[in-house]
Amino acid sequence: MSTMNTVGRPTAPNAASDASYKPATLTGGRGLLQDEPLIFEGEGWGKTGVDLPKPASNGSDLGDLVRKDPIGLPGLSEPEAMRHYVRLSQKNHAIDLALYPLGSCTMKHNPRLNEKMARLPGFSDIHPLQPQSTVQGALELMDQLAHWLTTLTGMPAVALSPKAGAHGELCGLMAIRAAHEAKGEHEQRRKVLVPTSAHGTNPATAAFVGYSVVEVAQTDDGRVDVADLASKLGPDVAAIMVTNPNTCGLFERDILEISRLTHEAGAYFYCDGANFNAIVGRVRPGDLGVDAMHINLHKTFSTPHGGGGPGAGPVVLSEALAPFAPAPWVVNTGDGYKLVEREEDEAEQAFGRLCAFQGQMGMYVRALSYMMSHGSDGLRQVAEDAVLNANYIKARLEDLMSPAFPEGPCMHEALFDDEWLKGTDITTLDFAKAMIDEGFHPMTMYFPLVVHGAMLIEPTETESKAELDRFIEAMRLLAGAAKAGDVERFKGAPFHAPLRRLDETRAARSPRLRWAAPEGSNRAG
Ligand SMILES: *Cc1c(COP(=O)(O)O)cnc(C)c1O
Repeated sequence: MSTMNTVGRPTAPNAASDASYKPATLTGGRGLLQDEPLIFEGEGWGKTGVDLPKPASNGSDLGDLVRKDPIGLPGLSEPEAMRHYVRLSQKNHAIDLALYPLGSCTMKHNPRLNEKMARLPGFSDIHPLQPQSTVQGALELMDQLAHWLTTLTGMPAVALSPKAGAHGELCGLMAIRAAHEAKGEHEQRRKVLVPTSAHGTNPATAAFVGYSVVEVAQTDDGRVDVADLASKLGPDVAAIMVTNPNTCGLFERDILEISRLTHEAGAYFYCDGANFNAIVGRVRPGDLGVDAMHINLHKTFSTPHGGGGPGAGPVVLSEALAPFAPAPWVVNTGDGYKLVEREEDEAEQAFGRLCAFQGQMGMYVRALSYMMSHGSDGLRQVAEDAVLNANYIKARLEDLMSPAFPEGPCMHEALFDDEWLKGTDITTLDFAKAMIDEGFHPMTMYFPLVVHGAMLIEPTETESKAELDRFIEAMRLLAGAAKAGDVERFKGAPFHAPLRRLDETRAARSPRLRWAAPEGSNRAG
């Protein structure tokens, strides 16, 4: 018979219950997951997984350019190739494996209905250069998505094409720069104000667009210091960039005053909308005086996160900035849909384009699918449940761990500092590594930078109470072990992961990004 521990997992009754008994396996495998060398280090370079007849003629149009050396790729049979990549995929954590509580990143479940819709051939098999008359349905979908986004935000216009949140920031600031240029004020307005708690992309984007970044202080309760902001606003400021709810998981109480002061100074209000999932359906950023805001479809609207790849970060724009939106955009002519692409059309003030074509169609389909399956009432509940879940975690951990801002409820993220680890010799990093052993992806660590040893937990609305309870029980056990002085459990963690502590500094400073053939080997490297 197995016994249950407090996390609800059965523990084996005999040898394995002696936690010190950890045999190294002969093969390096763990459980049913085999260890294997890199694909380039295996045998069978002469092997191929396909069997094609020899070409009828050896003639080639390439003349002298025909390759004479081996191509330098390992040979694998089909099952070997499949297994290699499936094993690799199992070394990654995924939202489909367990809770992924990365604060600010909003890792929520990707509904399979979205995937099904995105794979409909009418959406997935079209080409961006097809005549517009043959893709009217796709254009109508983009128009509907734009309608949902402008309605939910209370903003008049949206640029769909930016491919990520950071790309959306670039879009917003370029529109702001174009607006100042149109007014002849660009030369004098060279500063962008950014609060200390901002995501790193905010100052990076401002600098990239050529602005100098001025930091705005934060109050003791984690909000923008309005007096400090007011003292820094002036005729030399182009814009402010404020995240709301901010990266401490708190609503900016003085947001109306912030936007009033900004506009009074002739500057624009860029809102980082990465945390829109906390207020969607409840608060319209347009009503707060926002001029531009990106919406990470992979955060608020459940499209997959794509390693910097296939994302979408549409930017909603105010009346003042709308004329400068990048091409293209969709208009309903009454007689069908068309893409406005060129200056000789209505796009004469557009600051240019942000990508070659129309943006990430597959993400548009998924996001609209999520919106339509929730409806407006369901989207409001998304925000309510995201906030409720975060507050539940905060309430159930605050007796053991130290909330960074104990006063009042949080929004969609529960933020703790490392005050509670004082005197234990255990750091936020050690604690996070021990979470891996418990089967949980760590929360966001050391961000926002303004909170010492920050642990930023975002459960999202897609976790059930049972899942949250499992997570909370694991966190409580670990916190108890940390306070009881079980330092080894943390310093040595992770014990159960395929790789343990890596030299992260060396990996960042001198990464080896290419496999090199061993000395004396005849394999191409
Ligand atoms: C995620 C995030 C961004 C950047 O968005 P990407 O889509 O990753 O480029 C910017 N600001 C905040 C607050 C974020 O959480």
